[in-house]
Amino acid sequence: MEKYLLGVDIGGTTVKIGIIKEQGEIVDKWEIPTQIEEKADQIPTDIWASIVKKITEHQINKEQLIGIGAGAPGFVDAETGDIAVAVNLGWKDFPLGKILRELSGLHVFIENDANIAALGENWLGSGQLADNLIAITLGTGVGGGLIANGRIISGVNGTAGEIGHMTVVKNGAPCNCGRQGCLETIASATGISRIAEDTIMRYSDSILVTTFKEKNKLTAKDIFSAYEKEDKCAIEVVEEITDVLGLAISNIATILNPSKIVIGGGVSKAGDLLLNPLKKAYQKYALPRTFEGSSFAIASLGNDAGIIGGAYLVKQNQS
Ligand code: ZN
Repeated sequence: MEKYLLGVDIGGTTVKIGIIKEQGEIVDKWEIPTQIEEKADQIPTDIWASIVKKITEHQINKEQLIGIGAGAPGFVDAETGDIAVAVNLGWKDFPLGKILRELSGLHVFIENDANIAALGENWLGSGQLADNLIAITLGTGVGGGLIANGRIISGVNGTAGEIGHMTVVKNGAPCNCGRQGCLETIASATGISRIAEDTIMRYSDSILVTTFKEKNKLTAKDIFSAYEKEDKCAIEVVEEITDVLGLAISNIATILNPSKIVIGGGVSKAGDLLLNPLKKAYQKYALPRTFEGSSFAIASLGNDAGIIGGAYLVKQNQS
C-alpha cells in the first residue's frame, strides 16, 4: 500500500498544501485562501477539509497518510505545535498542532515557515541532504533556517535561525522587529533599495541615477542589472551588501561548520551576480578551513520548498 506525506505551508494570503510520496514525488499540490484576523481560527478546519476532498479525488484512504508537516509564520513551539505569535494571521498562543491532530487523527508536526523551507531545500533542492546547512531567504525580509546534524534547529522558544535579525550594524537603520541594524535592514530587497537610494546621492553619472529619476525607486533587479553593466555606483552598492552578508554568514558558519549555504528568495534571482561577490566576502571573513568545507548554491524549489519541507518533517519524525 502506497503511503503519503502531507506538506502544508501557511502564508499570509494562501495556504499551500501538497500530497507527497515518501520518496519525494509530488502527487498533487494546491492552494486555499488564508482566513485572517477573527476568522484565523478557521484555518486548520479549512486545511483538513481541503485535504479530505483531495485525497478522495485521488482515491487515497486515510490509512495511507503518514502524517501532516506544517509550517507557520511567526514563533512556533515545535515541541507542542503551538504558535506563540503570528502577527500577520492574528494568532496568539494558537494550538495549531493540537487542532490539526484532533481533526485528522494523524501525526502532526509544526515548524516555522522559514525552517520548513530550509528542510525542503535540503531534501529535494540545492541542499542535497547536507548534515549541516545554512538556508537564507532574501525577500521583502530576510528569513533563515539552520540544519545541524540533519535536523532543523528551533531553539527554546522558536527564534533559532532568525538570521535576518542578527545585528550587523550598531545603531543602524530601524528594523521591523523593533530593533536597529539587523541583517534584514541591509540584505533584504527593501534594504538593498534603501542603500542604493542613499548611495546614488554621491553619484551624478550612473545608470541607477537615471533609473531613479524615471521610476522614483530602485529595485534589487535594477541594481544587479546595473552591476552587470559595471556601473560604479551599483558596484559600490552590491559590494557593501555582499560584504555585510558575507560577514554574517561567515560568523554563522564559524559556529555551524556547514557544507552547504543555500540562498533563496527574490533577490537570489540575481544568481552569480550575487553569489560571486558574496563568496569573495565570505572567504575574506571565514576561517580558511570553514571556507574550504562549504559551498554556496541558489535555492531551486521556489514556492514548493515549504510543502516539501513539511512532508520531510513528517518523514524524518515518523515512528
Ligand atoms: Zn530585526
